[in-house]
Amino acid sequence: MKTQAILKAHASNPTPALKAESLEANPWHQAMAQLDRAGAKMKADSFVLERLRHCKRILTVSIPVRMDDGSLKVFEGYRIQHNIDRGPAKGGIRYHPQVSLDEVKALAFWMTMKCAVVNLPYGGAKGGIICDPKTMSMGELERMTRRYTSEISIIIGPEKDIPAPDVNTNEQVMSWIMDTFSMTVGYSCPGVVTGKPIEAGGSLGRKEATGRGVFYVTRELAQAQGRDLKQMTVAVQGFGNVGSNAANIFHQYGSKVVAVSDVSGGLYNPEGLNIPDILAYSAKHKTIADYPKADHVPVESFLEIPCDILIPAAMENQITSANASRIKAKYIVEGANGPTSGEADRILHDRGIIVIPDILANSGGVTVSYFEWVQDIQAYFWNEDDVNRRLQEIITKAFHEIYETSQREKVDLRMAAFMVGLNRLAKTVKLRGTFP
Ligand code: NAD
Repeated sequence: MKTQAILKAHASNPTPALKAESLEANPWHQAMAQLDRAGAKMKADSFVLERLRHCKRILTVSIPVRMDDGSLKVFEGYRIQHNIDRGPAKGGIRYHPQVSLDEVKALAFWMTMKCAVVNLPYGGAKGGIICDPKTMSMGELERMTRRYTSEISIIIGPEKDIPAPDVNTNEQVMSWIMDTFSMTVGYSCPGVVTGKPIEAGGSLGRKEATGRGVFYVTRELAQAQGRDLKQMTVAVQGFGNVGSNAANIFHQYGSKVVAVSDVSGGLYNPEGLNIPDILAYSAKHKTIADYPKADHVPVESFLEIPCDILIPAAMENQITSANASRIKAKYIVEGANGPTSGEADRILHDRGIIVIPDILANSGGVTVSYFEWVQDIQAYFWNEDDVNRRLQEIITKAFHEIYETSQREKVDLRMAAFMVGLNRLAKTVKLRGTFP
């Protein structure tokens, strides 16, 4: 599509006009282009598509925080509910210097699609604060989190919108959110947020769930293609919640994890890395960049490392038109949200590289978040085997529905996932109709 046509196509959304060179890097543009492609392929109702081109609610908040040195700093934060037709809004909260309104909108849209793809009774949301948590003390993070929670408390709640962890937020942050919201309403309300520690109403298996889901869908793909996952090599970009758990689960299964990276550096050993040892090192040093028992790889060229399965599990827009032709993996499994641009998708497809898209590959996180919410509401908790078994059932079923759609319609897995999700969503949107 020519730049002018793209800008015209998105004239109705609030995004300011974008320069051609920044289109590939803009997540909202990428998300809307995915929607347009799937909508055109399915001949979807134009009204449904128009509904999905707009976020239902966008809340921008200012967050004044007293810093440790006595100064006052005001952060900007967002909570966006993209769609709630299929149930309460659901989606993580990100703390990062590059958080932007367009990024949060795109992430909220992908949550809507993801929940429809795995058939959870949720809509999509996302939140974020523009900040650099690496430079903040625990006290500053807690005060920022509590004030942000207070500011967005007018739109969140167990029946309205349920946040969860995302980049640079963790179980501790979720506990502060739960506590602040509970203090506001006057009673303990664990169902307001998921990804909490077990002791604060969390679910067994939630911490590992996204990485575990990444593993399940990869195993299904390998099986469907007659490949033995134990004989395949794996590289994981990002060693946070998703990446480190995915690396560990592949390692435990017996696949050779040959490379892992975080924001500061990459590690490589063609004979396979000792993942438990790297996990222990990471827990102690907070980064894996200086881990001594592996070759070091620069983050810029990490994705081009020789491997069979590449798992981007860091940030969006990592695989682009600039590096897609140099990727060596046969499968890309998107642990992160939006790591592959549309331009890169086309290059990878032409090269026969199979991409399991984010809205399926990383849906294990929201699936077990859903289990956590159900357990909190019922005040009845499951054992870890039950959690993992139900996760496997849901994500495997979604994988096969999408894989079969892709074979039948002769489309890639991203298009197939969008077709499955959009179809489900469109039915609900049409049945509910338009108020008033
Ligand atoms: P996290 O903060 O726990 O970890 C992020 C990791 O990425 C860190 O190791 C960081 O050093 C690394 N990183 C950042 N930029 C990098 C770069 N340029 N190169 C290499 N590494 C880099 O975050 P997370 O929760 O693991 O989320 C990672 C991705 O997965 C995000 O896209 C998030 O939206 C997505 N996701 C997370 C969950 C979840 O349950 N946490 C669920 C679904 C999707």
